[in-house]
Amino acid sequence: MNNRRNEEWREILRKKMPAKDRVAIDRVKMNELDPHERIKWLDKEVNMGLTEEQVVREASRCMDCANPTCIEGCPVNIDIPTFVKYIEDREFDKSIASLKESNALPAVCGRVCPQEKQCEANCFLQLKMKKEPVAIGYLERYVADLERESGKRCVPYIAKSNGIKVATCGSGPASLSFAGDMAKLGYDVTVFEALHEIGGVLKYGIPEFRLPNSIVDFEIENLKHLGVKFEKNFLLGRTSSFDDLREKGFKGFFIGSGAGLPNFMNIPGENFNGILSSNEYLTRVNLMRASDENYDTPVFIGKRVAVIGGGNTAMDSVRIAKRLGAEAMIIYRRSREEMPARVEEVKHAMEEGIVFMNLHNPTEYFADETGHVNKMRLQKMILGEPDASGRRKPVATNEFTDVDVDLVVVAIGVSPNPLIPMVEKNLNVSKWGTIIVNEENNQTDINDMFAGGDIVRGGATVILAMGDGRKAATGMHKHLTKN
Ligand SMILES: Cc1cc2nc3c(=O)[nH]c(=O)nc-3n(C[C@H](O)[C@H](O)[C@H](O)COP(=O)(O)OP(=O)(O)OC[C@H]3O[C@@H](n4cnc5c(N)ncnc54)[C@H](O)[C@@H]3O)c2cc1C
Ligand code: SF4
Repeated sequence: MNNRRNEEWREILRKKMPAKDRVAIDRVKMNELDPHERIKWLDKEVNMGLTEEQVVREASRCMDCANPTCIEGCPVNIDIPTFVKYIEDREFDKSIASLKESNALPAVCGRVCPQEKQCEANCFLQLKMKKEPVAIGYLERYVADLERESGKRCVPYIAKSNGIKVATCGSGPASLSFAGDMAKLGYDVTVFEALHEIGGVLKYGIPEFRLPNSIVDFEIENLKHLGVKFEKNFLLGRTSSFDDLREKGFKGFFIGSGAGLPNFMNIPGENFNGILSSNEYLTRVNLMRASDENYDTPVFIGKRVAVIGGGNTAMDSVRIAKRLGAEAMIIYRRSREEMPARVEEVKHAMEEGIVFMNLHNPTEYFADETGHVNKMRLQKMILGEPDASGRRKPVATNEFTDVDVDLVVVAIGVSPNPLIPMVEKNLNVSKWGTIIVNEENNQTDINDMFAGGDIVRGGATVILAMGDGRKAATGMHKHLTKN
């Protein structure tokens, strides 16, 4: 990477503007759809992207450090200064090419990565100058969008076919990045997905106002161009076993089945009608078009909707409820500072008029004579000392308050999908149900099985899942070619 920094064009660019002038530039603000307008649409993206002038100016804030600490914050080690400096030089094709060396889904990551905890948290401007970091995610999104909108599809080099069949279980970001890398190495890859749509959480979880489906579909098309095959409505372990696939000639398996099992609080009344998991709520609306009267898969659209939790899933659910016309509120047991959701999404939710009842925790639900929830009891909390996660612990008080509701969405976390560990008895599984893998190559205890993403980590992030997929592809390739 240092060699690249020493290239002549980079030196010229560095000298073009004194460091003090770069530091003096304010961070760009993302152009956004007006909150009053956006809450009318499920599928209109809130972030509208930057203009060319905005990205070039933002890219010139980057100091092109000799020791670029930002790279350490990116789970797949994108050469951040190189793609950013190409933007400053208006060499957008070169910028996207350098990005794609390490990240197959830049348009996705530019939108959903928790940048403030990853690359941007390690930007020199923030670490050493106490300034706002370079908007790395916005820049990544810009060049990826430019490539997609140009109609040009940059299909990478594909090795000659080796005829070896490999399969992935699931079609989330972990599997997609695994499939892409294996196809490039010449393998015959089939992705098996239980649902009728490809993309995992990118499709059924994250709403279109944050990540349009067309962007995920573009990346899936790229994989089809690489020769990857997709089988939908195929529940591996039930529709067919791994042994069936072995008999059909599959030599390697990647398990990317995610963490789709919702957690509940197990409090009185949680089984009343009108209380459902965020997984069910999001899948019904995002994937089954439950809110569209032309589809016969309805969901109850409440008038007063409470979403329990403070993560991305909770923010997505509550903003969907708002868009479906409800008075929507977040119930979270800690304060805003401790919320695990992306900071930008919390800001967007607040702008959209979501009511935040922080430092409250449900203890019981009540129902009407038909068994439908109509009230919840909340216990007030205060913050105690930091716990193992570094966040201040919520401590219960003896104060309670009752709130009227007609729909409750529980978004307090997810557990690994249990099916594969259940049917593959020889898999080494942790007490949390995650599959244990060799950290070097993501291989499981069953020789021909590799695993990654949320089924290994528990609920994590898109880019970590993608990193696992890539590591497993390298590992499986070595394993299958070692003799
Ligand atoms: C609502 C929501 C919002 C999120 N927001 C963000 C965000 O903003 N930023 C971020 O970085 N992360 C976010 N995340 C987390 C991120 O999406 C996940 O970490 C990531 O998708 C995990 O990828 P994966 O490939 O492991 O699994 P998944 O994306 O969960 O995909 C697993 C797939 O496997 C399929 N499957 C399961 N079992 C089988 C089987 N037996 N046979 C065939 N198919 C099977 C499932 O149907 C699913 O499609 C969010 C998660 C949720 C739920
Ligand atoms: S992939 Fe995510 S962490 Fe890495 S540079 Fe892009 S936005 Fe930052």
